[in-house]
Amino acid sequence: MTDAAVASHGDAAAAVTPEQFERDARAFLDASASRRTPREDFVWGEGPDSVGLLPERTPDQDQADLERARAWARTAFDAGFGWISGPPAYGGRGLPREYQRIYSTLAGGYDLPSQAVYGIGLGMVAPTILDHGTEEVKQAYLRRMYRGDIVACQLFSEPSSGSDLASLQSRAVRDGDEWVITGQKVWTSGAQVSDIGEIICRTDPDQPKHRGLTGFVVDMHAPGVEVRPLRQMTGGASFNEVFFTDVRVPDSHRLGEVNGCWTVALTTLMNERAAIGGGSGGVGLPTPARLVQLARALGRSEDPLIRQQLAAIFIHDRVASYTNLRAMAKIAVGQLPGPELSLAKLSLTANMTRTSDLVSSVIGPALVADTGTWGTYAWSEFLLGAPGLRIAGGTDEVLRNIIGERVLGLPKEPAPK
Ligand SMILES: Cc1cc2nc3c(=O)[nH]c(=O)nc-3n(C[C@H](O)[C@H](O)[C@H](O)COP(=O)(O)OP(=O)(O)OC[C@H]3O[C@@H](n4cnc5c(N)ncnc54)[C@H](O)[C@@H]3O)c2cc1C
Repeated sequence: MTDAAVASHGDAAAAVTPEQFERDARAFLDASASRRTPREDFVWGEGPDSVGLLPERTPDQDQADLERARAWARTAFDAGFGWISGPPAYGGRGLPREYQRIYSTLAGGYDLPSQAVYGIGLGMVAPTILDHGTEEVKQAYLRRMYRGDIVACQLFSEPSSGSDLASLQSRAVRDGDEWVITGQKVWTSGAQVSDIGEIICRTDPDQPKHRGLTGFVVDMHAPGVEVRPLRQMTGGASFNEVFFTDVRVPDSHRLGEVNGCWTVALTTLMNERAAIGGGSGGVGLPTPARLVQLARALGRSEDPLIRQQLAAIFIHDRVASYTNLRAMAKIAVGQLPGPELSLAKLSLTANMTRTSDLVSSVIGPALVADTGTWGTYAWSEFLLGAPGLRIAGGTDEVLRNIIGERVLGLPKEPAPK
């Protein structure tokens, strides 16, 4: 879209009613994509049986996925459905969030290329740029991110700083209008296909550890950035080590105040927990309905213990989803969610453990030795990926600390000496 078209999109936004918007969205989706089988209508033995949690792709497959994802992102954006609730000044359509929900619900009924490659960028980095970026950075990246032109990653964790993020050691030193970044990040999901990254660096080692940190948007193609893939126990390599050697970043690419990164990081982390903890929709978990079909297909659905396990998984899936909705409702009216996001993420990952236990009982040895039976050995990818989700976005233990302190009012965790 041209700038004029963006502006007229913004003007048109004020006039469109939810009913008209829904008609337009349906017409666009009908014309551009085909309908898909609703998740609840999953039929045992049909379609792909993959239930992996972490992408298992070769570099060529990564590239092909990216091209498919990008083609769809551009089509949707150019038709006015790429950033429905975003500010028109940065390429959004300026409609209330309710319109985004209308579109997402409709789009869920169509067979669309996965947009997972944009998950971190749009779920965490873009909201942070919108809240804390300079005008130059917002203009340079937001529209391109929502149009799928560029991919973003989150460069927080380091070899000795994960849960205790504030102890990170990567340095950024000011040099005129630029900063020079040196250090190492690790577990960076999607860095291998990213164009930009949100990085946190230590800018004042003499300040208390939470205060001497500053955030930046860094160009992943800049000289001095080196991305090295890490192989997971599932076989794939979807996250990386990223090395920075004298990488220059303009001061205009700073996020928030110098040494004031803690609020910037919290914006990103809150959005991360929301993205992961959104119930079975959040990370594309297999639905309870699929588990019921699995138990039926393998003749275990009348077993009372299996039925109890299935009921528990269904209940906790709903708990995670409703808790996340409570947090989203708070965000929608401008309030900060409290520990709801930690609760939602913890219920989700606890449910993954329940799912792994159920699947192990139902499938038995065919889970570890491929018998060729559809929908059995494929679950091994889920079992091997689930522990990663108990770590990413706040480990189970750290989330329990938050709930203990902020919900139950237990004494604060002793500070390390
Ligand atoms: C699938 C996946 C994707 C990821 N993607 C990204 C990414 O894109 N970008 C990024 O920056 N990072 C990413 N990470 C890294 C992730 O944020 C860290 O792994 C996480 O914060 C934990 O840090 P750590 O690995 O250093 O473990 P540590 O913090 O060293 O924890 C080790 C163990 O000690 C426990 N522990 C730590 N502190 C406490 C405490 N105070 N009380 C009780 N127990 C404690 C932990 O629960 C854990 O069991 C990803 C991780 C995974 C698994």
